[in-house]
Amino acid sequence: MRRDYLTSFEPRVRRWLATPDPGPEDSEAADQFFERWLLGRMADGQVLEVGGVMVDRALLEVRFRCVPGRCSPAVERGKLRSCCADLTVYVTPAERGRLRRHARALTEHLLAREPRLRALARREPEFFLDPDGESLSRPGQRCVCSRLLPDGKIRCHLHDLAARLGVDRTDLQPVTCRLFPLVLVAMPKGGVLVTVNDGGNYRAWGARHPRSFPCLNDTRLPRVIDSMADTLDWLFGPGFAEAVRQAGAAGQG
Ligand code: SF4
Ligand code: SF4
Repeated sequence: MRRDYLTSFEPRVRRWLATPDPGPEDSEAADQFFERWLLGRMADGQVLEVGGVMVDRALLEVRFRCVPGRCSPAVERGKLRSCCADLTVYVTPAERGRLRRHARALTEHLLAREPRLRALARREPEFFLDPDGESLSRPGQRCVCSRLLPDGKIRCHLHDLAARLGVDRTDLQPVTCRLFPLVLVAMPKGGVLVTVNDGGNYRAWGARHPRSFPCLNDTRLPRVIDSMADTLDWLFGPGFAEAVRQAGAAGQG
């Protein structure tokens, strides 16, 4: 029987997607770029329909795996950029609320491990947010929740904290971080498109070109459909990633 994956779309992500972007205003040019890009992908048979979800075939082709030793500011990284050190992570009101609910545990966890934050935390009780509250703060030009390991790799403190508290990672970590480099787009009538930041579409999201990231420009890395399978199953229910693989193999477009 054909499974309807859209009905199992993770409710917090569905609400996140329906929340107006707290970041910079979408430009008309970006919207037009997106429409042209999507029409082209559909005309070329590059958009699969998987249980009610529109899936860009790029998930079966683009290569990705987090290789944090290559992008950290602590290593010689040339022009490469890090999602945790160089990007602003906007948070929705719901994400802000979840962080505030865990503020005490978050503060204790970060201050015990990040001496760089102690002076800031003394001045600003909500040091983990920017003064306008719309994004995670970036003291010292890297995310407040990032952890710089002795070997130069960057990790996220929120994985450990969520495990320690026994909560789902999304109770703490912004959805944007959990999805990277996947991109979700709300479509008319409650539909959803899943794609990945690539050289053909990055302008539609106001993102950096994927060649800026070591995890998106190395053909030796696994395909997004494999490295992000857990995230895709978390988004749309168990079996979704496999259903995408099968739709791609069947040449369905
Ligand atoms: S996802 Fe990419 S940019 Fe982000 S830490 Fe990993 S390798 Fe670096
Ligand atoms: S919350 Fe974690 S994953 Fe997101 S930017 Fe900060 S350190 Fe990176």
